[in-house]
Amino acid sequence: SDSHFPIPISPSDIDYSHHYPRFFDSKHDEHDKGVMCLPKVRFADIGCGFGGLLVKLSPLFPETLMIGMELRDKVTEYVKERILALRASNPGQYDNISVVRTNSMKYLPNYFCKGQLSKMFSLFPDPHFKEKNHRRRVISPQLLDEYAFALEVGGIIYTITDVEELGDWMKSCMESHPLFIAVSDEELEADPVVRLLSCATEEGQKVARNGGRTFRAVYNI
Ligand code: SAM
Repeated sequence: SDSHFPIPISPSDIDYSHHYPRFFDSKHDEHDKGVMCLPKVRFADIGCGFGGLLVKLSPLFPETLMIGMELRDKVTEYVKERILALRASNPGQYDNISVVRTNSMKYLPNYFCKGQLSKMFSLFPDPHFKEKNHRRRVISPQLLDEYAFALEVGGIIYTITDVEELGDWMKSCMESHPLFIAVSDEELEADPVVRLLSCATEEGQKVARNGGRTFRAVYNI
């Protein structure tokens, strides 16, 4: 239950120096008029599962801090170990990715301030098929308000699923939201992140192995 993981009272309450030690050493401290600017997390993978996306994104954006948010304790511990092992066997790499155990549907605003994120991901989220459980979906009209708050202007939310009905739902939630606009086909084509959506994560690889179709919705604000 929630009582088993710490909940930061606000984004400034979080000490990221344990997550990204290389980025919080003295070389990275910038002083501006006496105010220290600490590096900020810019990408969030909601329901990151086993962390495949973070691992693939890390070398593409080596100076960008990214965090996975995952509800399951054992899965979060696995991702932590995976990242530490990658850092140990590839010195100087994978320093920009980390994971927290949390319920992103409840605590996202505790983690990110307004306009902090440039990219958010929800890859192969749990479908919650029954209508009475649609409110549990990670993409919903209410949660899109929170995501719009956390994303910077021009920030992008990437979603993909192998469940057609959920794909339609995610698309229609974003279409109906006043702040989200579909990313154009040309921009999708040019974005190196887009081609990772279907194949970088463990769930995506499973779907691909079984020859399943996928349904993508990528929107910006
Ligand atoms: N994105 C990963 C992938 O593509 O392999 C994992 C997909 S898996 C079907 C959905 C994940 O979301 C699970 O690991 C689950 O524990 C996590 N999850 C579900 N609800 C969540 C929530 N409210 N907050 C954080 N993680 C959540």
